Amino acid sequence: LERYTAPIDDARGTRIGRLVVLRDVTREREVDQLKSTLMQTVSHELRTPLASVVGYTELLRTRRLDADSRAEILGTVHREAKRLSSLIDDFLDLQTIEEQRLELSLAPFDVGALLAESVAVFGGQSEAHTLVLLPCEQPVVAVGDRARVAQVIANLLSNAIKYSPDGGTVRVSAQCGEGVVRISVADEGLGIPLAAQPRVFEKFFRVAREETVRVAGSGLGLALAHDIVVAHGGEMGFESVEGDGSTFWFTLPTA
Ligand code: ADP
Repeated sequence: LERYTAPIDDARGTRIGRLVVLRDVTREREVDQLKSTLMQTVSHELRTPLASVVGYTELLRTRRLDADSRAEILGTVHREAKRLSSLIDDFLDLQTIEEQRLELSLAPFDVGALLAESVAVFGGQSEAHTLVLLPCEQPVVAVGDRARVAQVIANLLSNAIKYSPDGGTVRVSAQCGEGVVRISVADEGLGIPLAAQPRVFEKFFRVAREETVRVAGSGLGLALAHDIVVAHGGEMGFESVEGDGSTFWFTLPTA
């Protein structure tokens, strides 16, 4: 509470009381806190890759380099630029969702095919991890915005890989229920400490641990994934044991 006080005097200047105003500033403080987290994230997450893009392009411009070095540098520049671009996309997507302007183009799609595609994309990106797909016994058709659902699955797969530094197996599965399908991504990675678990879907939240901080991330991915699932009328949750791994899941309505 913010406290404001002022003396109250009568016409002759005699003190007759005191005015006290108490104002609840919880919401303002929360907004301030969010703004300062945003500033820190923006300055760190945007400046680090930008600095490397600037540095490396300067090198390309001014030095005579052999073909291999040029290719390596260009690879780094490309990766950093992509990281920037996906951070900005996530941020704008979240903004759109929060202003309730997200437009979903709902249509039936085959869940097994989408999972197979996602696993193929991520399987090719990491040699240290084994990705296993365990689809439903029978074909499942969900109703949703296929591109947005793909974004959710990509986020869960990318986290499962990022936060399993020693490799390990990532299992993707789909369980069919009455009118819903539940898609799960299970890893054998770091897991999430119990105290941090209630905050995992918050914007900008990242587990404050060295292993996490070392990995690039903005803390926006799960907030966005969660909002996309909820916009579909689904639910999202997870089970996690620190040191043992995590299983993130979400549901979608089926046709
Ligand atoms: P980011 O990965 O960009 O930090 P996310 O919103 O995707 O942001 O995740 C928020 C935080 O939750 C991560 O920083 C990490 O600490 C934790 N987390 C998410 N997924 C996993 C996972 N599969 N295993 C362990 N920790 C995870």
